[in-house]
Amino acid sequence: VDTLPDLVWRNTARWQDKIAIECGVTGRRLTYAQLRDASRRLAVALRSARMLGPRRPEEEEEGEGGRRGADAAVLMANAPEFPVVMLGAAEARVVLSTINPAYTPEEVGRQLADNGARVVFADAACVPLAQAALARRPDGQRPLLVRVGPGDAPPGVLRFEDITGPGAPLDSPDIPEGDPNAVCVLPYSSGTTGLPKGVLLAHRALTANMHQIQHPEVAHVRATEGDFQDVIPAVLPFFHIYGMVVVLLNSLCMGAKVVSLPKFDPAGFVRTMIEKKATGLFAAPPLVLFLAGHPSVPAETLASLRFVLCGAAPLAAADAERLLARASHHIDLVQGYGMTEASPVLTQGRKGFMGAVGPPLPATEAVVINMDTLSSVPHGQEGELCFRGPQVMNGYWQRPEDTASTLVAGGWLRTGDVGRLDENGDFLILDRAKELIKVKGFQVAPAELEALLREHAAVAEAAVVGLPDARAGELPCAYVVPRAPPGDAAAGDALRAALAAHVARHVARHKQLAGGVRLVADIPKNASGKILRRRLRD
Ligand code: ATP
Ligand code: MG
Repeated sequence: VDTLPDLVWRNTARWQDKIAIECGVTGRRLTYAQLRDASRRLAVALRSARMLGPRRPEEEEEGEGGRRGADAAVLMANAPEFPVVMLGAAEARVVLSTINPAYTPEEVGRQLADNGARVVFADAACVPLAQAALARRPDGQRPLLVRVGPGDAPPGVLRFEDITGPGAPLDSPDIPEGDPNAVCVLPYSSGTTGLPKGVLLAHRALTANMHQIQHPEVAHVRATEGDFQDVIPAVLPFFHIYGMVVVLLNSLCMGAKVVSLPKFDPAGFVRTMIEKKATGLFAAPPLVLFLAGHPSVPAETLASLRFVLCGAAPLAAADAERLLARASHHIDLVQGYGMTEASPVLTQGRKGFMGAVGPPLPATEAVVINMDTLSSVPHGQEGELCFRGPQVMNGYWQRPEDTASTLVAGGWLRTGDVGRLDENGDFLILDRAKELIKVKGFQVAPAELEALLREHAAVAEAAVVGLPDARAGELPCAYVVPRAPPGDAAAGDALRAALAAHVARHVARHKQLAGGVRLVADIPKNASGKILRRRLRD
């Protein structure tokens, strides 16, 4: 069992002069040796008197539940400095909370007050956001602000270069001994079903998950061998657990070259894929749909690609196949399934079984339960998925009720997701329990209807929600983004009727779109690419 930095440095000991991470826009880059030194310096600085000081006695007793929140927070777009902050904090045994840089000052302020960070790292674009958030922090605390990246800092803000540059000390007696059981990061869940929840993840949970993802039995994402170095474009945000652990830290543990992209710009992404010769991609469904179907994506975009892992939200097998059909060579494409509470990966698909999310990762146990009786259902039947394994969280930060209802007896994690095992022993995710539409006592999974709608040639995107109905309770209602907007009202009506008929041909009566079809210009999604059905319902 390792701490996070121990695992990264051990796995990459022979890669010192290779590039660890490079910015796809500016070309700013760090070798593995530079990354290690910069994060060591950051750890020393964090433990210096002017930042957090040597570790205090109360930090020792964080225990399993994590009695302290975050010491530091990071608010920045994907960039080479992100892993410096992460690994530096981890090395200093500082709990780091990651915050969405697209949030408003109010939202950032709420998370900073929730996690109690005393040092905030922000990139140039986020410094004003951090300042505005801190000014309205309800507890009146003013954490120290560090401006990440090259260049000068405004008055009262520390410069990253002063902390991590060659002039800064590389060692200090105040760097504590690493403890794999200590809490390492405090990311937030995506807030798809409610307010985001802070999740306490120990070093051992993160490192266990990376061992599991790269386990030889899972085969497909593998530490690179010989002189070959994987090139991984990283556009999914590092503040979210998937971007943080799977895209960033796991790629570094593979010895890959990560090409970080601060935001998704379609042309820039395609250029990066081609020019950097991307060999692997950790994606979410919107990115797969873009690569599979967008007319501006030339086939050579996929030319060097050897694997794609897609997770975070459901991906229809048909969409996966459209992506593969665009490449003239073989690409391994599988789905993964996970959640912030599990560091995040729980299951990983097997080659050739694209609609399913696969069996549990090694050292992960699974059980499917009936949500009313909480007893396990017969093999193959639907129910709530529960998992147990070393990657599971310690608990939520300051939410004892949520922790008690999510982490139940025996260390099982209730996912809130409904699924079942198929005949091959792979899990199928049907939908979130909270999102199931209840029609006359029947449960309808929006994801099933969305997948059907997406198969229709006229549909670019679709989201299905329950519409309150006096007689039926709820009725499925579809929001559809058409590939081409209908020319007039009559064409719109015809399209809506055609889509309702298309769904009706494939499903039982209670699942039909009796709540109607609405044509819209876009579907609200959060930073991790998940449909915000909550917002559609509102
Ligand atoms: P919140 O818990 O705050 O409401 P969230 O659950 O969206 O937000 P995350 O931890 O980012 O926050 O997401 C985990 C969820 O994402 C899972 O519970 C599941 O519903 C969904 N998910 C992840 N991977 C897949 C997948 N391959 N297929 C279907 N759903 C997935
Ligand atoms: Mg969740």
